Amino acid sequence: MSRSLKGSRYTLRVDQGETPAAARVPEPKQEEVTGYVHSLETAGTVDGPGIRFVAFLSGCQFRCQYCHNPDTWHLKDGRRITADEAMDEIESYADFLIKYGGGVTFSGGEVMVQDKFVANLARRCKQRGLHVALDTNGYLGHKVTPQLMADVDLWLLDIKSFDPQIHRIVTGAEVEPVLEFARRLSDEGRMMWVRFVLVPDLTDDFNNVEGLADFVASLTGVERVEVLPFHKMGEYKWAEMGLDYQLKDTPPPSPELIERVHQQFASRGLTVV
Ligand code: SF4
Repeated sequence: MSRSLKGSRYTLRVDQGETPAAARVPEPKQEEVTGYVHSLETAGTVDGPGIRFVAFLSGCQFRCQYCHNPDTWHLKDGRRITADEAMDEIESYADFLIKYGGGVTFSGGEVMVQDKFVANLARRCKQRGLHVALDTNGYLGHKVTPQLMADVDLWLLDIKSFDPQIHRIVTGAEVEPVLEFARRLSDEGRMMWVRFVLVPDLTDDFNNVEGLADFVASLTGVERVEVLPFHKMGEYKWAEMGLDYQLKDTPPPSPELIERVHQQFASRGLTVV
């Protein structure tokens, strides 16, 4: 049977020997993969090696007190695009990214909220020869399929706290699924950059950092630990959204505190930046 599309209606041409009844059965339509994107950045330099195309996806189940992108929390606040449209955008930079040792990073929000969308894009980027990094809080790690696992070259794993109580206060969610995903990445020998946001009087507790440093040191595949000093660059967004920003009186960490935390990780033989 051959088939042509005219407007929104099928025109059927029935070849000799085929029954009209069979000819009328439409082929299953390939489902279009779509997702919600907060923004696209074309020259990122911090979310993986080299120059990165960074796709910030919408949707997050955490509510971190220091979040500088609360406008990514709700899926449908993002722009809905198809995976084809996203790939067209990526394709226009692909040769440049490859030439300069970069690639594509998927970030958010929390990318695993849109697991099928990100898996589709990661697969296609990988097939295009692009380095793929995925920035995640790890909480939905159980949704990472073996295929997605294989398509990601570098995991940027944000561990907000080791202490379960502090993690709950910071994010509103349990830490155990995050640690479980970290162990899975380690067991599978995946490359990771672990990220930790240092907030005075919130995540800086000595024993919290000690616990995290011990945990991270027990993992394989951790190429570096990034200690990210708290800042208030997103505070205005909380105000715009009518949200109560609880850290308005919290200062950035002092150089001494940053140094102490660096040392806590470095003393376990970890590379800290
Ligand atoms: S995980 Fe990231 S995007 Fe989600 S609330 Fe926390 S800081 Fe914001």
